[in-house]
Amino acid sequence: MLVKEIKSLRNIIKDWKKTGYSIGLVPTMGFLHEGHQSLIKKAVKENDKVVVSVFVNPTQFGPNEDFNSYPRDIEKDFKYCIDSGASVVFNPSSEKMYLKGNCTTIDVSGLTDFLCGSKRPVHFGGVCLVVSKLLNIVTPDKAYFGEKDAQQLAVIKRMVKDLNIDTKIIGCPIIREKDGLAKSSRNTYLSKEERKTALVLNESLSLAKEELAKGNLDVKKIKELITSKINSEDSTKIDYVEIVDSETLQPVEHIENSVLVASAVFIGKTRLIDNFTFQFDI
Ligand code: AMP
Repeated sequence: MLVKEIKSLRNIIKDWKKTGYSIGLVPTMGFLHEGHQSLIKKAVKENDKVVVSVFVNPTQFGPNEDFNSYPRDIEKDFKYCIDSGASVVFNPSSEKMYLKGNCTTIDVSGLTDFLCGSKRPVHFGGVCLVVSKLLNIVTPDKAYFGEKDAQQLAVIKRMVKDLNIDTKIIGCPIIREKDGLAKSSRNTYLSKEERKTALVLNESLSLAKEELAKGNLDVKKIKELITSKINSEDSTKIDYVEIVDSETLQPVEHIENSVLVASAVFIGKTRLIDNFTFQFDI
């Protein structure tokens, strides 16, 4: 079922809860691919009913970002969700999601100081606002997020804990194309040439992973390895290459416990992100 109104969705949820159904939520911005589908399928496996939200959230885009050009295809997305086992696709308008004069903000501080948070100043405020709204509307038992957006996953987990929201946040592994590029709705922006260049994201991180596995734990050297690999390709511009503690997301000087190795790179005008987590075993 395609639902556009908050009130209609709340009524459906009320009925489901009366029947005792468990509910899973998969928040997305649409233009769905197998990455999203992996979240939906996991949600379908673990819950009686699944809501997929498809909403290009204006508050998480900066003024010079791609809100207007972000790809949209709700008809295709709707079919994809239903075929993947979802019960409801929630596709509200911006006007319905954001009341005029909205003056509430959410700031998960510390966790948003580095990585995408430092490069996209309004981004996580917008993400937290829309996700908290969706969690309040759907009141799901579980909500599913991809590890591809590792900082988003960590921020949402912290927000849910801090605000006593009664939903379990489930992280799901990164789904990649056969050649290693992480699937993303933004990959559709890439020209044929750029698509080839984009492989450098995963390749540079794979080099780092190999070095770490060999025991080379020098943070500076690992970052240099990633940076020089990315810079070896024309038409790349590094936004950041960071190694941070997986939980606090603060940069580390020494690799202990679990670290997140993450990068954001412009391929032409398209900004892509990728990451992996490395667990240091003592
Ligand atoms: P988006 O539509 O880009 O906002 O993504 C919606 C959700 O799908 C987020 O939790 C993403 O982390 C997740 N996601 C997007 N791409 C992938 C991928 N390649 N693998 C796993 N999860 C993904």
